[in-house]
Amino acid sequence: MTLDDVISCLSGYDPDALPVRDAQRIIAQFITPLEAAENVPLLAALDRVLAADIISPISVPAHDNSAMDGYALRGADLKTDASVTLAVIGTVLAGRPSDAVPAAGQCVRIMTGGVMPSGCDSVIPHELVATIGDDSITIAPGAIRAGDNRRFAGEDLMAGSAALRKGKIIRPADLGLIASLGIATVPVQRRLRVAFFSTGDELRSIGQPLDDGCVYDSNRYTLFGMLTRLGCEVIDMGIVRDDPQALEDALRQACAQADAIVTSGGVSAGEADYTRDIMARLGEVTFWKLGMRPGRPMAFGRIASDGHSAFLFGLPGNPVAVMVSFYFFARAALLRMMGAEAPQLLVKVKSAGAIRKKPGRTEYQRGILALTSDGEQQVRITGSQGSGILRSMSEANCMVVLHAEQASVAAGDMVDVLLFDGLV
Ligand code: AMP
Ligand code: MG
Repeated sequence: MTLDDVISCLSGYDPDALPVRDAQRIIAQFITPLEAAENVPLLAALDRVLAADIISPISVPAHDNSAMDGYALRGADLKTDASVTLAVIGTVLAGRPSDAVPAAGQCVRIMTGGVMPSGCDSVIPHELVATIGDDSITIAPGAIRAGDNRRFAGEDLMAGSAALRKGKIIRPADLGLIASLGIATVPVQRRLRVAFFSTGDELRSIGQPLDDGCVYDSNRYTLFGMLTRLGCEVIDMGIVRDDPQALEDALRQACAQADAIVTSGGVSAGEADYTRDIMARLGEVTFWKLGMRPGRPMAFGRIASDGHSAFLFGLPGNPVAVMVSFYFFARAALLRMMGAEAPQLLVKVKSAGAIRKKPGRTEYQRGILALTSDGEQQVRITGSQGSGILRSMSEANCMVVLHAEQASVAAGDMVDVLLFDGLV
């Protein structure tokens, strides 16, 4: 499918005033997942994308077992209106099943995780036993109900069922889950190779003198961080001068090595002219002016050189704009290329203050989500929202997403936020 095919499905398409949602839709439809997997040892699978379902070869737990330290008994022996005394005929430790089979009126001392003796269906925790004698216990009426504190075989995972689905990004719990099945190697998607570079004659690299009117290149560092966090293999191609030949060489070289290319700068109106020509020659790339702030200009498409092709994200140059464009466009696309299922979840929180906003464009404001003195979660906007002010991005712990149709927000209104960091 060509990019034009995808775009032609969209009614009222205007590249110079493209709503965020439409751009996201075009990208999602044009991007294709990479079909390349490899097997890695379990511990190396952390943060990787599962390339096939993990089918459980065993049931976990393998046997019915006790959820408590206490006494395993037959629920039928319990009485609701009178105490019962049961003879203790043996002990089951975790990992050491016992042959004891209690008859009516008998029970077995059992530790957490101990295999339930045959005939037993309930466990009374130690601390709920009324009297513990030398070889008997007495249970008060109603102390537990039949079936309490028994874990069933396979209640965590059933043999033959899918324990984890293809596309899952493997987190700590998943490592443990796979280990609980005794599986040592895991099929994962090969890492996505992403080349990135900054464009601009005014950019200097760390270690170079900062000439008059120049700035240090920070975008390559934020891009490095964001791509690395996403689990990509990064190819840092440095700074590319504002020069057609240099740009073409860099794009061709990136194509040869990478699955995707992320550039920053050079796509705004004044600069886009020769960029547009070169990209058009190398493949199919569209230039958008998006209905959003920050980060209006963006280029997207696929280019090819010497038989290698790569998806291209031409992000704006402003340091905050590049991050916002990455998080809200490139990130989902790269995850899709990786075959990952990872929806971006917004949560609603109360806005501490009023936020001015015109309907008609999406705004991504930097926010700080914190607890008030009475323990309520509130988000406030960091000071200046200028798209060059990276410090406010650094201070923020979330983005406040003000949707296209939304107007100004009053203090106390609920707004959507996207947290930068979660638990894992
Ligand atoms: P551009 O999109 O190339 O017109 O750049 C817009 C603004 O972002 C200009 O002020 C640039 O100096 C700045 N800028 C572009 N690239 C970078 C970068 N890699 N690091 C820091 N600032 C940048
Ligand atoms: Mg520039």
